[in-house]
Amino acid sequence: MKVAKWYNNQDIRIEEVPTPTPGPDEMLVRVMACGICGSDIVEWYRLPRAPLVPGHEIGAEVVEVGQAVRKFSPGDRVFVAPKVPCMQCDYCINGHYPVCTRIKERLPGGFAEYVLVPHTLIENGTYRLPDTTSFEQSTFIEPLACVVRAQRLAGGVQQGQTVVVFGCGMSGLLHIKLAKAKNCQVIATDVNAGRLELAARLGADITIDAAENVAERLSDANDEKAGVVILSTSATSAVDQAWKCVDKGGVIVFFAVPGPDRQISIPLNDFWTKEIKILTSYYCGPPDIIDAIDLIESETIKVDDMITHRLPLKDITRGFQLVLDGKESIKVIIHPNRRGRI
Ligand SMILES: [Zn+2]
Ligand SMILES: [Zn+2]
Repeated sequence: MKVAKWYNNQDIRIEEVPTPTPGPDEMLVRVMACGICGSDIVEWYRLPRAPLVPGHEIGAEVVEVGQAVRKFSPGDRVFVAPKVPCMQCDYCINGHYPVCTRIKERLPGGFAEYVLVPHTLIENGTYRLPDTTSFEQSTFIEPLACVVRAQRLAGGVQQGQTVVVFGCGMSGLLHIKLAKAKNCQVIATDVNAGRLELAARLGADITIDAAENVAERLSDANDEKAGVVILSTSATSAVDQAWKCVDKGGVIVFFAVPGPDRQISIPLNDFWTKEIKILTSYYCGPPDIIDAIDLIESETIKVDDMITHRLPLKDITRGFQLVLDGKESIKVIIHPNRRGRI
């Protein structure tokens, strides 16, 4: 079978490897669609494990199961999570699934014709797709689950709140859609005019060019500052702006972070007297995945309008370039197998 092996963003090779044969408690799935995530192109995050086969937004079809596998059979349409927490340790019990010390990872990733799913992931990390959910839509399950989790950590993101989203890439747009679904007043900001237009079309009430003074524009356009500020960009300039947009008692969520070589300073004294919270949110957990599947199935969150590119596996380098460039792409989906329903 063919896999895409990532050495760095400029060097992704299509390599031929043996198609795995599932053991008694494993199964083989055919990858029908796999999204390129913003985190796939973050070299400081991925390089320590390179070369690797990335791809964690997988919609797949079961093709072969080991004799001991009861939960799934050939033909089942599934989403396979990239990692599965143990659900038993203190971290898991307290809802901090992404830091579970016994977390199991599924590698190689989904930029491959087939993926071997190990036992633990079959048991706790593979989800049957609703009949109405396409494989392409299923590539949004993981990113939407991460967004669900971030907004959950931010105190739920409640009806009537003002939410400012910095960065209108795929994740930022999902944040906008989810906050709108909760009837929030949503303000979107980005440096890219095309993305701001899209943000407005997909539901943002107000859009602000990030090159302007966002806090000033926010107070011109909206009566109050933001109860929730979500950083969905790694730009440090956005962090400085974000500090000024948050209301007293509000929360700033780092959904994305600046690179490890960047320093940011926090106006702590100001935040102390205003009781402002700073949170980070990384990845997602099983309850978030279940919520994301429901949100997509019920069309509470529509995702098809975010797909800009569909490419075969052999064009993956171009796909990564499109995501890196970010000018004309939102969601780029790789189709390692081009047959049947997508
Ligand atoms: Zn992702
Ligand atoms: Zn655990």
